[in-house]
Amino acid sequence: MSEERRTDLESLGEFGTIDLLTKNFLITRESTAFGIGDDAAVLERNEEQYTLVSTDMLVEGVHFNLMYVPFKHLGYKAVAVNLSDIAAMNGTPEQITVSIAVSNRFPLEALEDLYAGIRLACQHYKVDLVGGDTTSSKSGLVISVTAIGVVDKSKVVYRSGAAANDLLVVSGDLGAAYMGLQVLEREKSVFESNPSIQPDLDGKDYIVQRQLKPEARVDIITYLKELEVIPTSMIDISDGLASEVMHICKASNKGAMIYNAKLPVDSLTSTTAIDFNLDPTTCVLNGGEDYELLFTISQNDFDRIKGNPHMTVIGYMTDASEGIYLVDTNDSLIPIKAQGWNHFQNK
Ligand code: ADP
Ligand code: MG
Repeated sequence: MSEERRTDLESLGEFGTIDLLTKNFLITRESTAFGIGDDAAVLERNEEQYTLVSTDMLVEGVHFNLMYVPFKHLGYKAVAVNLSDIAAMNGTPEQITVSIAVSNRFPLEALEDLYAGIRLACQHYKVDLVGGDTTSSKSGLVISVTAIGVVDKSKVVYRSGAAANDLLVVSGDLGAAYMGLQVLEREKSVFESNPSIQPDLDGKDYIVQRQLKPEARVDIITYLKELEVIPTSMIDISDGLASEVMHICKASNKGAMIYNAKLPVDSLTSTTAIDFNLDPTTCVLNGGEDYELLFTISQNDFDRIKGNPHMTVIGYMTDASEGIYLVDTNDSLIPIKAQGWNHFQNK
């Protein structure tokens, strides 16, 4: 590092930083089918299959707050969010490794709870814990999980395959995890100002659970297989719909048109958003941590997914020159901009 140059990471953003740091790395191995730039790396495995590898790190104070996140949930979530990236390649997760950096402010029992959550996720998703690393931390807790999966070569789905007129589809509903976080943050502030007041999460179960215990939509991969639909592109929704649509558009060199009226939002998400003076659509577009799948399918496959309770068509792809827009309920066009979570900013 030179003395003179000091570039602010905040000005580059997460993706700008990754691009800059990795741009001078060339792929030299024949066994590397696809490296940086998708939800998982794609490696040669055998004639018919690829191996998928993906890593995600959770940092205390950035990604979770131990005041309201139980260790067991944290363990489960750390695994689920990684498996979500394997699902986003249309793959099946098989193994994980788990690395932790812990300060001695945690007793063994806390780490046992963390691993109880990890074990529950391993059982639920039928993946094996096969390794990791343990070290000490002078500040907060850090958990890094690597997920390894498998996909048929004929079925692997990248972010880059969307064509104009393909339908944009999402699984499940969106914005709930973000509203769950708002509820937890509110109860935390109430508790901080008066510790005798117990948290009031009554009736908020669904959105709180979506924040604390998200699931990887590996079930959607099974449904797609049963329906004999191979998406043309796919990504998981970790940073809010807007950011993920933009990733698909950028990787596929396409534009998109999304309809506000079609966005799947649970009624508890909407009513809670309104209580918080937030627009539910903003929560869908710029909230985070839904861990649903966003994918594109050929119009020819529409009949196969039509009426499926797990999948909602929210719009369609266009030529890149047409831009990326949300069609509002009054038919006005709102340009979609990436906000996502900027991890270099204090939230
Ligand atoms: P996701 O949100 O799906 O986990 P990211 O946005 O974290 O994906 O990462 C985008 C791409 O950049 C991925 O291919 C990831 O492996 C790669 N990547 C992220 N950080 C680094 C890094 N520090 N060094 C090398 N590659 C990275
Ligand atoms: Mg991803």
